[in-house]
Amino acid sequence: MGMNDFWFAMYHTYSIKKSFDKRALKIFEKDVKFAQELGIEGLVLEDYYNDWIWGEYTNFWNEKTFREMVKIVHDYGLKFIPYLDVTELGVHGKVYKQNGRKWGAKNRWGKNYSAFSSIFLADYYPVDWRTKLMCPSPSSGWFNYLTNQAHVLLTQYEVDGIYLDRMDYRTTCYDHSKDQAHFIQGIPALVKSIRDEVKNASLKNLLIINDSCVDPDPPLIKCMKLADFVLTELLPIDTDTTDFNWRFLMEYGDIIWTFHRFIKPVIKLSTNLSFLSGAMLDTNRLQRIINRLKIHVGKKIIVFSHRKDYEGFKAIKKIVEKNKLKQGFFPGRKNLHTIKKFFK
Ligand SMILES: [Zn+2]
Repeated sequence: MGMNDFWFAMYHTYSIKKSFDKRALKIFEKDVKFAQELGIEGLVLEDYYNDWIWGEYTNFWNEKTFREMVKIVHDYGLKFIPYLDVTELGVHGKVYKQNGRKWGAKNRWGKNYSAFSSIFLADYYPVDWRTKLMCPSPSSGWFNYLTNQAHVLLTQYEVDGIYLDRMDYRTTCYDHSKDQAHFIQGIPALVKSIRDEVKNASLKNLLIINDSCVDPDPPLIKCMKLADFVLTELLPIDTDTTDFNWRFLMEYGDIIWTFHRFIKPVIKLSTNLSFLSGAMLDTNRLQRIINRLKIHVGKKIIVFSHRKDYEGFKAIKKIVEKNKLKQGFFPGRKNLHTIKKFFK
């Protein structure tokens, strides 16, 4: 097994301490050592940013712990790739309070669109938070702000690239520009801007983007062409952003949020059940997803699944081997060690 696969980890599996966390680093190092044994090429790390404030990527739980993690990953010969989200900003942070209203994508009544919240993946996040949709167009301040976040990470920390999530919103923003297509056109423009930062820092750096299980449309295809790898996120059903349910969530996200304490258990149960559905194992479906990406990016695909049992692991391993792709190991909130049993 050469250096080949990727490992996707959540920082809060190891620590959410605001002071230097030596104990967490010991546990983290054990997982990095195991990752090296598995032949993992790089780590993508999510939620290293303080209090799950999506968007505040240089505001760390603890900067020294973060820097030590980067060092440990390098000591074992792996790449370290931090997570960024192209379109979402946590409303509980100070950046949102100062700029969120201004930078946000707005509906025809001038109201900020809702975006992702913790209730949809309640098993992964131990606290409640929500985000609003930011406008990725160069005519919104979000474009420069996020580009600068990438610049700081790439130049002041020894990271080996950037991972980008959530290029799947397809909506109209009624602010920032008279051109109604500026939101959708802004997505590949912002990805290009971040890619330039990634490659200016070093040509060896990697840009990895998430397809959000979307059947590639022109904006996603543009983004994919800019990336070194596309991580395909296996969801129970494909994301269709023109779908009624999706639009409903965009328009009524605030109302849903008002009742989140009551509906959270139901959403949690249904999400967990859907992550165990047979569609997550269906070889024909998996191959269809790979085929629709392959015509644009060849074999530069990392296969990632939310189904974390042995069946889910085996299903993506099979497709990875058949198509000579890379596997994305994702143990959820657990340590990487917990997947050791899959290799016997
Ligand atoms: Zn806009």
